[in-house]
Amino acid sequence: MNEALIRQIAETVLKELRGGSGSDKDQNGIFTEMSDAIEAAKNAAKVLRALSLDAREKIIQAVRASCREHAGELAKLAVEETGMGDVAHKTLKHILVADKTPGTEDLSTVAWSGDKGLTLVEQGPFGVVGAVTPCTNPGETIFCNAIGMLAAGNAVVFNPHPNAVKTSNLAVRLINEASERATGHRQNVVFSVVKPTLAAAEIMFRSPDISLLVATGGTAVVTAILSSGKRGIGAGAGNPPVLVDETADIAKAAADIIDGCTFDNNLPCIAEKEVVAVESVHAELIERMTERGAYLASPEVIESLVKVVFTDKGALNRACVGRSAKALLHTVGVTVSDDIRCIIFPAAAGHIFVQDELMMPILGIVKAKDFDEALDMCVQMEHGNRHSAHIHSKNVDRLTRYAKAIDTAILVKNAPSYAAIGFNGEGFCTFTIASRTGEGLTSAKTFTKSRRCVMSDALCIR
Ligand code: NAD
Repeated sequence: MNEALIRQIAETVLKELRGGSGSDKDQNGIFTEMSDAIEAAKNAAKVLRALSLDAREKIIQAVRASCREHAGELAKLAVEETGMGDVAHKTLKHILVADKTPGTEDLSTVAWSGDKGLTLVEQGPFGVVGAVTPCTNPGETIFCNAIGMLAAGNAVVFNPHPNAVKTSNLAVRLINEASERATGHRQNVVFSVVKPTLAAAEIMFRSPDISLLVATGGTAVVTAILSSGKRGIGAGAGNPPVLVDETADIAKAAADIIDGCTFDNNLPCIAEKEVVAVESVHAELIERMTERGAYLASPEVIESLVKVVFTDKGALNRACVGRSAKALLHTVGVTVSDDIRCIIFPAAAGHIFVQDELMMPILGIVKAKDFDEALDMCVQMEHGNRHSAHIHSKNVDRLTRYAKAIDTAILVKNAPSYAAIGFNGEGFCTFTIASRTGEGLTSAKTFTKSRRCVMSDALCIR
């Protein structure tokens, strides 16, 4: 046997052991090398392409069932692994994904027929989607992306957040097991890597086998995918303000804001991050909030919290993200009961807790002299992310003016922020809100490409 042949055999065996050449047995779609994950996804995309829509929908139904069944386990693991969030709320978020993420029914066909024939526009798969996911909603985003992307007919390669890799890869494994149960075939449909890194992401961004990239995360990752030269869907950072005017039901506004802000310890990107109230209701709003589990912090406590929440260099202390109000207060020597869900304080518009996206249950309540000033302040605080904003008001003209001025993908009126993703609200669920690139709340159809199919001079039967 010559040396070249021996080397070739050794390489093949090594590749097989690493799960390469599309053979990912015993790995449940999770590879050591990103390039092998992409190769396997490429093969899976061919298999998915050949499936009927009915078979595709059966996979989706099995994935939903798995998400529902493992909601508690995924929630618990995510909180253990990341140290962020609340198990009960995360469980609800997974159930929401299972129940309200659109499947194949989201895909539609447009048709024109006439003397010249029949023309259809259909929504076809891209093939392989490369998706980068956050640590704030790891299981939720993987399941939600998978349902939409698979319903669209794509295979998916994930590069999950390294701080949530166990939860994310458990979700990947569960989806593949569900798919196998639905089809009766050992064919993985979603893929990931053992150790997601920036280098792995770079391989994904450059791969000629991936034509659609979807990033759910902060500004850096969205910029990275948009610089790749491929089609990119960017679900980036937000800093949602809430405007409260004098026409609002103040007791309800207080309750809704505290409920939305504290959901999963403020991890959702859509959650209330600061409040601007007009002068005449500012004091009442604060008082009502304290009746709903808010702790009114003194200027000294807030000053101490600033030193904990931000490092000496002014960066966000990740150890504080997604912590409960009680745990945050404990870090500055304040002990409160479990009933305390949120930390509030009367804030200046320029306060760092107002201007920066904290992702923790701390709310600065800013005073504005009237609605016009409140509107300008909210637009400034949103920083042009065009992500989410909320308002409590019964004045329809003001609701309209606010909506036009703030120009966000999401605007919730007179409800907690989570109504935007179908939680106690109408409409479907998503955990990928394409704020920056304008697709808005993503669903199966977002992950398709438009294909026109023309039949000349026939099939018009009118
Ligand atoms: P993050 O930006 O730290 O990480 C998100 C993902 O991007 C991770 O997988 C990370 O490894 C990867 N990443 C970061 N920089 C990268 C780069 N330069 N190249 C390649 N990959 C890179 O975000 P996070 O802390 O996990 O999540 C919180 C942030 O995400 C917040 O800003 C929040 O508003 C935002 N978010 C937005 C949405 C949305 O739908 N718009 C949803 C969830 C979270």
